[in-house]
Amino acid sequence: MNGYKNSIPNNIKGFATNKFWSDLKKEKFMYQTCDDCGSPIFYARVVCPDCMSENLSWNEAIGRGKIYSFTVIHRTSLPGYKEDVPYAVGLIDLEEGIRVMGNIIGWDAPETLRIEQNVSVTYKRVSDEFTFPVFSVVEEEKSNEY
Ligand SMILES: [Zn+2]
Repeated sequence: MNGYKNSIPNNIKGFATNKFWSDLKKEKFMYQTCDDCGSPIFYARVVCPDCMSENLSWNEAIGRGKIYSFTVIHRTSLPGYKEDVPYAVGLIDLEEGIRVMGNIIGWDAPETLRIEQNVSVTYKRVSDEFTFPVFSVVEEEKSNEY
């Protein structure tokens, strides 16, 4: 696919993360859980960071979460990103209990972004090899309005 001008680190894939990247191409956001202590794990690893167990399972995340923190980039010296400003990068807490970094899309003005705002995962295909997860702002439900 053409048009993605930004660099992708050449060591982004590894033994533990290959499944994550290949399933993103199928628009599935996968994370691991520990079969022994139950901890949700992200990013992908070969041992549980909580109990060192090697018994890990893959699960598909529903893809709903809330913004834990974010920043809006208004200026950049990186040529590939100049067309994208302003853009938002955030830490997203998914319902499965994992925290993920990614771009936040679907907003009109930076000042409309909020901590704890609802987002859902969507997918941005950037090359034949890579699809990135991005997080789209979800309109608030009417029942949440007063
Ligand atoms: Zn564990």
